[in-house]
Amino acid sequence: MSSQPLVIGKFSLGMGDRFAHEAEAQLAACLAAKKLGVEIVPVWNKSNREHNIIGSEPTSTRAAADAAVKALGWTAPYFLDADHIGLKTVDRFVGVSDFFTIDVADFIAQPAEPAAVKAFVDRHPELVGAITLAGIDRPFTTTRADVERTAAKFLLAVQEAGKVYRHIAAVKGVGRFVPEISMDETDSPQTPPELLVILAAIADEGVPIQTIAPKFTGRFNKGVDYVGDLAQFEREFNDDLCVIAHAVKQYGLPANLKLSVHSGSDKFSIYPAIRRALAKHGAGVHVKTAGTTWLEEVIGLAEAGGAGLALAKEIYAEALSHMDELCQPYATVIDIDRAKLPAAAVVNGWTSEQFVGALRHDQKNPLYNANIRQLIHVGFKVAAKMGPRYLEQLKACRESCARNVTGNLFDRHIKPLFL
Ligand SMILES: [Zn+2]
Repeated sequence: MSSQPLVIGKFSLGMGDRFAHEAEAQLAACLAAKKLGVEIVPVWNKSNREHNIIGSEPTSTRAAADAAVKALGWTAPYFLDADHIGLKTVDRFVGVSDFFTIDVADFIAQPAEPAAVKAFVDRHPELVGAITLAGIDRPFTTTRADVERTAAKFLLAVQEAGKVYRHIAAVKGVGRFVPEISMDETDSPQTPPELLVILAAIADEGVPIQTIAPKFTGRFNKGVDYVGDLAQFEREFNDDLCVIAHAVKQYGLPANLKLSVHSGSDKFSIYPAIRRALAKHGAGVHVKTAGTTWLEEVIGLAEAGGAGLALAKEIYAEALSHMDELCQPYATVIDIDRAKLPAAAVVNGWTSEQFVGALRHDQKNPLYNANIRQLIHVGFKVAAKMGPRYLEQLKACRESCARNVTGNLFDRHIKPLFL
């Protein structure tokens, strides 16, 4: 084992592979970027929730990733992300993962000890008053009461992150994994001034995070485009980058600390803003995609026609009839207009072209239906229940599934963001 600490590179792409059949097709997208001179670090992520729904174990993600790396001769770093874990769920990942997304969103707004809040604010007089950050025109102006309020809201969450971090470090060793702290699965976005307070607290807690996932302004629904104020997003994203650069210097956080954009797949309308901001600040980013690959599998099945198309239709029909159950765990990150979901009988009459057109994320195609896309996105449990029947079709339709998985990541994600 080398003594060099594990450090994640400037640009990285989180990739979900629900059924552990697409790692090679996903890696092919990173390889295509590498051939063009841009290194995108592949990070395979799968949350505890996904493993539970599918009935898989993190060892299967590790096996699939290692096999893909070997098959394609990938020699650059790659990681396995224990996605959205906490103290209760981390243990099944500790052996195989080397990237940990420590999710403390549930602890936000649980009030911290008043004494701890006071000690924090006393320790950080630099957070009170006018704070000038390189790259931001107007200084942040904060009162002691503002900092107290922010600390009271986030300190307990940061302390919890410290507990989880130390739990992992005790097993794996310091420097043997990339820690991320995520606060995205909560109600309200964190503002750039709040992010500064949070980073100061994380540094105090001694967690050497390399990526941080705040909740950004606007809606990051699963599998579909961003909905929100583009100008505000761009302003806040730029400010967040300046906050991070400042916090790295001021609080001694790791020099490669970068933003992590969760539910980052398919957010095509904000990619130009992200790209501009990264170039302007020379910053890196981690973009986490997830269900977009599963959607491409279904597209690949449908495109193959025959039994593949029939299975894709069956998935839609099943998802439609179990909609409430499937949507429930994702209620806050989907917006499905039920009136715009065609009946199963209608979809059963569709050609490959109609099905693919409805599902593929091409907003210029008049057949595209964001409601179907979101329903199938949360419908992977249906395929999990099909078990070997689903996996056999994945194998039978390998060419079209792999082509769609690679093409989606490369053309619609990597190209507009990084190339
Ligand atoms: Zn997330």
